[in-house]
Amino acid sequence: MTTVVERSDQERGPSAVLPSGDGGTGDLWAAVADLSAAVAELEVDSRFDGADVESRADLAVAAARELGLVELELRATLVLADLERKRGNVAVAGRRARDVLRWAGENDARHLQARSHFLLAGAFQELGDLSSALEHAVRSAELLGQDARPELRVDHDARLADCLGLNGDLAARERYDHVLGLAEDLGDIRRQVVVLNNRAYCETIFGHYEEALVWITRLQTVAGNHDVGLRGAELDTLGRVLMELGRYEEAEAAMLPGLHPEVLDASLAGDAGADFLLTLAELRRRRGRLDRAQESLDECVRRCELHGLTGIRVRARREQAELHAAGGRYREAFEAHKLYADEWMELQSTERDARARALQAMYETTEARQQTLRYRELSLRDPLTGLYNRRYVDDELPRLLAAPAAADGAVTVALLDLDHFKRINDTCSHETGDQVLRTVADLLQEIGTPADDGSFVARLGGEEFLLVLVGLSPTAAARHLDDVRLGLSNHPWAPMTGDLPVTVSIGAASTDTLVSPTPSDMLARADARLYTAKRQGRDRVVSEAG
Ligand code: GH3
Ligand code: MG
Ligand code: MG
Repeated sequence: MTTVVERSDQERGPSAVLPSGDGGTGDLWAAVADLSAAVAELEVDSRFDGADVESRADLAVAAARELGLVELELRATLVLADLERKRGNVAVAGRRARDVLRWAGENDARHLQARSHFLLAGAFQELGDLSSALEHAVRSAELLGQDARPELRVDHDARLADCLGLNGDLAARERYDHVLGLAEDLGDIRRQVVVLNNRAYCETIFGHYEEALVWITRLQTVAGNHDVGLRGAELDTLGRVLMELGRYEEAEAAMLPGLHPEVLDASLAGDAGADFLLTLAELRRRRGRLDRAQESLDECVRRCELHGLTGIRVRARREQAELHAAGGRYREAFEAHKLYADEWMELQSTERDARARALQAMYETTEARQQTLRYRELSLRDPLTGLYNRRYVDDELPRLLAAPAAADGAVTVALLDLDHFKRINDTCSHETGDQVLRTVADLLQEIGTPADDGSFVARLGGEEFLLVLVGLSPTAAARHLDDVRLGLSNHPWAPMTGDLPVTVSIGAASTDTLVSPTPSDMLARADARLYTAKRQGRDRVVSEAG
């Protein structure tokens, strides 16, 4: 098999992680495939609260870490970050998403880039920075691959439509139509409801209440046909649209289901319930039902205080002033209005501060950089042995060969391949095979690199290793490699493999002072010599030094 980290390059295509039928390694393949499917499912479910999203994401992060699958780990991390965002910790969520986005960019992980931009669009939307939100939404829709789950296509395109709408761009309509079609094709009712609600809300931003009513009515029909209860946010839009059109009675009737506790308490931050109650209070006041209006408003205020919802609390003050005025209590109305005006101004400045702090926190780098370093380090390691992997070699070898030591003829590249390794897997077990690989890796680290001068060991895949030696003449390097060979074969293997010996064939190539070497030249020369070593009977070193 190839190494797990190499496989993480391929995680992006859902089908690429299916077991390869590579006998003996099936368990690992199956674990990877299961995890990949679980994370994909999680991304689809994370659009909505519930469905154990948090605990599933925690599990996925832990499992991916165990398997060394950085990309899957980060995809699950984004799901957790999005939960933070919904709980109001926008800065935390935004910072995580920026971390992940940086890693994804450096590692050319498109799906992860798309998901990070998706989250960032939401975060900026919440911070009121609508143009940044739009930028991220555009990227999130662009970068999502054709092979992504169709539910994600709906989510990403819908967020783009939302951001266009919030920016007052009528192009939002066309987007919504398209997304709605996708959600209908999928038969995904919850997503249809969300898109219809946002479409209607968007029309209220444009001030087109008749148009908004068309969409909200369609939303009611879809929900009714499928026996789906509307959430606070949807009932709030519905009530507001009807109220703005002067259809008070219908508006109140439509909003009534929202008073059920399970609807009122549904959103994580508690804000949907408070918003809903505020709209209801206004509606009841306009209908002249002042006592009922006061009840709704009191409950709204109670929730604001419970959940620390300052913005809605301030709007509730204004409604209180209106309510007093409607009851002819002008002195109280005036007092309430004064409070409203003061608090509103204070809110403006605290919101500005909070936004500034949140934005700054999102760009904070200390923690972010540490995380990125950890991810980078992980992505350069082979999970089975902890050695550097092929990706590290691809980065490091060109650098080494361009350095002065290479021009002095003092860089040797050696390919090591275990002899008859298949026999160990077949005779003992695959686990024993893994144990042997780990022990070989430890031995190579102990005896393979003579000094701390840029020499390193890597696992290229399977039972093939690379040893790069810096600072030795070709003759000295050949001698050293022979010591390594002997060190491996003389290790007491019997407790692990019984009668089976563990030996290695080595092919080496050194830089010379005449030609400037490329990594692929060097590796090709070493590989040809490795082949010679195998042909000549294995357990030997072949190099230019003979
Ligand atoms: P040769 O001397 O010609 O190199 O023979 P070989 O048996 O070592 O070479 P071959 O390429 O035929 O077989 C390599 C085997 O290594 C086959 C594969 O199942 C096993 N292998 C590859 N990766 C792993 C791994 O991560 N763990 C274990 N246990 N086995 C692995
Ligand atoms: Mg091999
Ligand atoms: Mg082999």
